[in-house]
Amino acid sequence: MGRSRAYALAGVVAIVGLAAGCSQATTGEPGAAARSSGVATSSGSTIGGSETGTPSSSPTTVGSTKPLVRWPDNATIPHLFYHSLIVDPARAFHAPQGKGPGYADYMVTLTEFKAQLAQMYARGYVLVHPERIAAKNADGVMTYQPIMLPAGKKPMVLSIDDVSYYEYMTGDGFATNLTIGAEGRVTNTYTDAAGVTKQGSYDVPTVVDDFVRDHPDFSYHGDKGSIGLTGYNGVLGYRTSVRKYGDTPATKAAQEQAKKVADAMKKDGWNFASHSWGHLNFTKTGVSGITADANRWDAEVRPIVGDTPELIFPFGADISGIEPYSNSNAKFRFLHGTEKFDYFFPVDASTTHWMQLTPGALRQARINVDGISLSRALSGHKTPLSAFFDPRTTVDPLRPKR
Ligand SMILES: [Zn+2]
Repeated sequence: MGRSRAYALAGVVAIVGLAAGCSQATTGEPGAAARSSGVATSSGSTIGGSETGTPSSSPTTVGSTKPLVRWPDNATIPHLFYHSLIVDPARAFHAPQGKGPGYADYMVTLTEFKAQLAQMYARGYVLVHPERIAAKNADGVMTYQPIMLPAGKKPMVLSIDDVSYYEYMTGDGFATNLTIGAEGRVTNTYTDAAGVTKQGSYDVPTVVDDFVRDHPDFSYHGDKGSIGLTGYNGVLGYRTSVRKYGDTPATKAAQEQAKKVADAMKKDGWNFASHSWGHLNFTKTGVSGITADANRWDAEVRPIVGDTPELIFPFGADISGIEPYSNSNAKFRFLHGTEKFDYFFPVDASTTHWMQLTPGALRQARINVDGISLSRALSGHKTPLSAFFDPRTTVDPLRPKR
């Protein structure tokens, strides 16, 4: 049940919460995100690949004075994901046009995220990129890689979806972009309820940047997280899409600015991932639709963020059920063979970890941290969230009761 339920939840993100942009931008397939296959989960299953490789002797920033031990089983590494943070709960939770409940369901507030992050750190979690978990060996076969941490530290992956500051979010109490501020540091632009615009840390990437600056051992070799980007409203708060906004000097300027920000973020430990151009449902869309969408992403997003081997499925909608990816799957053949994705991320909020390694790819399920998963935890259900933080002590008092 886990994967299919999580999928249904994730599906509503773009349908309700992100409806204004997401469903319009797709090829006219909003709604009905129910995946029929009801994919079972199998925690920690691994297929193919072997744990080879010698422990790295290179120095690490993580507790450099403590002896390092190899994380025993890369298949157990969890992956949490967020959307952009609510800075002003009063505006977001009471946003017009029915958007308030969607934000409450699918977004986390700045206050909640900071509290959750502090608890993850206190519990010993360390941010690692998926490329640390497995990489191609000399024969081109994806193989688990040694992750060396001080005793007591635990690796986890972080990602943030839809960091586009979509048009529909304007005025609802979110940051409006990522930009480069004083000292060349990446920062957010945020306009408060009184109309005052400020620069600061108002979303996941900048809050994590601040946290890692204060706690360098929260980051493995400088790793932070992966940012999954669509293209239909541009990226990072810049209206970069020629398709949507026209081939104009303003679009060109937006592209240039977005590229500067993306370059700075990559230098600072962030990865970018494809989240498809139009927030595509990869389960329901055929190869030709996937190809058309990939061409748009390649034309409009790839030139800004660069090549990436990571694909984050919108709605968590995977290209396969539980069976491992293989070249008998035409969607996999295209996405892996042509588009060169090696790391694939569906959603499964039922377990702390789910990973599948095949010779060609790493597939790692992600846990949604949002209003729905928080409410579930707060109402007494056993959820994986409590492995990372205490939902009760981190919930924003301004969050509406469900
Ligand atoms: Zn999304």
